[in-house]
Amino acid sequence: MNGDLHRAQRLAAQLHDMRTVACALPDGLALLDHDDRLRWCNPAAERLLGIRWPRDRGAPARDCFGAQGAAVWALIESGDAQDIAAPTDDAVRLALSLTAYGAHRQLLVARDISQVRRLEQVRRDFVANVSHELRTPLTVIHGYLELLSPEDVPALAGVLQEMRVQSQRMRQIVEDLLMLSHLEMQQSLDEERVPMAPLLDGLRHEAEALSQGRHRIQVQRDAQFDLMGSPRDLHSAFSNLVSNAVRYTPDGGDITIAWRPCAGGAEYAVIDTGYGIPAEHLPRLTERFYRVSSSRSRASGGTGLGLSIVKHVLNLHGAELRIESTPGKGSTFACVFKAERLLPASA
Ligand code: ADP
Repeated sequence: MNGDLHRAQRLAAQLHDMRTVACALPDGLALLDHDDRLRWCNPAAERLLGIRWPRDRGAPARDCFGAQGAAVWALIESGDAQDIAAPTDDAVRLALSLTAYGAHRQLLVARDISQVRRLEQVRRDFVANVSHELRTPLTVIHGYLELLSPEDVPALAGVLQEMRVQSQRMRQIVEDLLMLSHLEMQQSLDEERVPMAPLLDGLRHEAEALSQGRHRIQVQRDAQFDLMGSPRDLHSAFSNLVSNAVRYTPDGGDITIAWRPCAGGAEYAVIDTGYGIPAEHLPRLTERFYRVSSSRSRASGGTGLGLSIVKHVLNLHGAELRIESTPGKGSTFACVFKAERLLPASA
């Protein structure tokens, strides 16, 4: 009897401890029943989500988050509440997730990510401002270098040429960083028809100009669709992939630019018979300044930002970048667009 009493007291003390810890957590916690009714929540959940405890005990979760409750609950259930305004304060950003526990119960966790978002904004503004500030002085330096003719200073002809190459490289890096900033800050997309036939023709010409006859280049247009989206951004992404194929394929190789149907939509693919990429590098290729070989990238005029630009443009269009590559054989970079982005091709 005495033993039972002790055990009960110990359990009660443990329960009390656990509640105290849960109440001290900075993250909001709400326990939900099998039918999504509120069982319990901690003070952070009251503050972040607007739950009124104990008044809301037993109420359906969708009725607990204030006026926008149903919309918030729909986002939580679909897993799309990773960065939403808090129901209690628009300035607070929350990541909300549901985790199953026990017998058909769910734990709702609300994490305040405002600080992380603020730091990301500071980082974005910094990169955009630095790039913008560098643009004008670089343009001036580049302009003067263009004016100087190697014939005027033959002793410095080599130096002058190297200065021109390097200033052009810096200009390209700044332009690519500005393009990335523009893509990151873009909230919505220009929704325009992007006719694919002329775009593919233009890309072929760009490839031929870059290749200067060193590769066999062909275009395959098997999909009779146009795209919906931003013509400027899509051109930039597609052109980056073409430029990479030319730069990373040795002379005599083949480059195919394809626009073809695929499962669930259509894909724009650039296929080359170039150097290829070892598998361990593939997951990191779209990171800024990530290069498999820095010397090869620099020697061919790369900035290390091309695939980051491609990834951002595709994200904005709800599309996906798929990369397949075999070292020594070649690579395929495919931009996969869903059916809802496609329009029947204009005549
Ligand atoms: P870069 O300006 O260096 O080409 P990217 O972001 O466009 O930067 O590409 C990142 C890296 O991915 C490149 O440095 C290169 O190592 C590799 N890469 C990209 N495209 C290809 C390709 N078609 N074939 C082989 N390697 C490629």
